Amino acid sequence: MLATDLSAEYIIVGTGPGGSTLARELARNGKSVLLFEHGADHRGRACYGTYLGPLIYCDRASLLFTREGLNIVRPMMLGGATSMYCGCAARPPDWMRDKYGIDLTPEVDATIEELRIAPLPESLAGEASTQLATAARNLGYDWQPTMKFMNPARSPQFRCGAACMLGCRCGAKWNAAEFADEAVSHGATLHTRARVEQVLFDGDRCVGVMGNMEGRPFRARANTVILAAGGIGTPRILQKSGLTDAGIGMTMDTTIMVYGFRNARGIGKEPPMTWYWENLEDGYMLSTLMDPWLLFPLIMTLKGLRYPFYWPKWRNMLGIMIKLKDEISGGVFLNGAISKPFSENEVRRTARAIELCTRILTQAGANPDHIFTTPQRGTHPSGTVRIGTMLDENLQTQKEGLYVCDASVFPEALCRPTVLTIIAFAKRLAKHLLGR
Ligand SMILES: Cc1cc2nc3c(=O)[nH]c(=O)nc-3n(C[C@H](O)[C@H](O)[C@H](O)COP(=O)(O)OP(=O)(O)OC[C@H]3O[C@@H](n4cnc5c(N)ncnc54)[C@H](O)[C@@H]3O)c2cc1C
Repeated sequence: MLATDLSAEYIIVGTGPGGSTLARELARNGKSVLLFEHGADHRGRACYGTYLGPLIYCDRASLLFTREGLNIVRPMMLGGATSMYCGCAARPPDWMRDKYGIDLTPEVDATIEELRIAPLPESLAGEASTQLATAARNLGYDWQPTMKFMNPARSPQFRCGAACMLGCRCGAKWNAAEFADEAVSHGATLHTRARVEQVLFDGDRCVGVMGNMEGRPFRARANTVILAAGGIGTPRILQKSGLTDAGIGMTMDTTIMVYGFRNARGIGKEPPMTWYWENLEDGYMLSTLMDPWLLFPLIMTLKGLRYPFYWPKWRNMLGIMIKLKDEISGGVFLNGAISKPFSENEVRRTARAIELCTRILTQAGANPDHIFTTPQRGTHPSGTVRIGTMLDENLQTQKEGLYVCDASVFPEALCRPTVLTIIAFAKRLAKHLLGR
């Protein structure tokens, strides 16, 4: 079949948690689905989950920066960013229901049950990570075990550590690619290495997409198109399709890590983010986390030439990740640029969070004279096609039949793990589409 002959009832663009979940829900309800993914399926390849991997499967070989110098990690492959995530789960924030009237409880509960999302057993939560959480508790901060998409029963050899952010090699972590597989087993057609450029319209109605597949242009027809290309990919497609408000303003849950070391084992070989604490008033989340061994000196070089010299201490390091609820600012632009300026208020809140991390690390035995932070980075590009701004509550754009279902839709920064919320949005959208 010629690539130009493609057609289906539904076209879905992107195979992260949004696209894969939706494809699976629609396909198993008998709908014909075309699923396009820009990247390849890297699971099972020699590079997957190694230090080489992110050079191959992340946008710009992991060297994607905003104008202001914030590094964005943007995996582009089957499964989207769940191929490199920490496997943490969090329920949507209460404000999603209270402020925007979107109650995802049924979809969240169903997902937790189906994927057996739960904290890791205490024996696997990591000794040093647990000591860090205990130190925080001793200071009066009630750290909690993080719910995980990581299930030791899925893996004969559970060995999650910081390096599983490069890609899960032991199989314990759920990946959205599994839902894409299921969609295919129910009849959906998946095209990898297929980049969608633009949505096609007939008046105010969408009628398909066009793009490039394996180096050849293609067109595909459908009366319903769902963009799930992520917080950066989706606004770019919309802009090229003439919806120029897309990408104006974005959120990132900007992240910074605070490190210290002590004369005992650190957390680098332990599963990431097994404990967390949220400061809802000041708008940040803290969690136990270290960068993988070989990435540590590379990332710290961006901060200053003296920092990579801490590398020999990596095995003794404790780390706390700060995720800040950032404001809607900057955006994703048609010329390829991304901007995420930082306000005075955000700078002040980050400083307060760093101060608290320093106290916790010291309480856990870290040397107070050598506590330092990483450069800031962004791992949750989102809020670029927001509900209430460009989308109605059913995630439909102003164009009939054109929907968005990924991290772009968040009306404000989630400031917590995003994947469970995105899956719930996709399940809710599937119900809406199937019920039409
Ligand atoms: C290192 C790291 C750790 C993280 N840890 C966690 C965690 O523990 N828990 C959590 O909940 N979240 C975590 N996240 C965030 C989470 O993984 C993402 O927010 C989430 O995957 C976003 O889902 P999405 O569906 O919006 O898009 P993505 O997962 O980004 O998927 C979008 C897909 O669309 C494809 N695409 C893009 N453009 C096009 C195009 N033009 N045509 C076709 N396909 C296209 C991309 O290749 C990609 O596969 C982490 C992220 C990173 C990077």
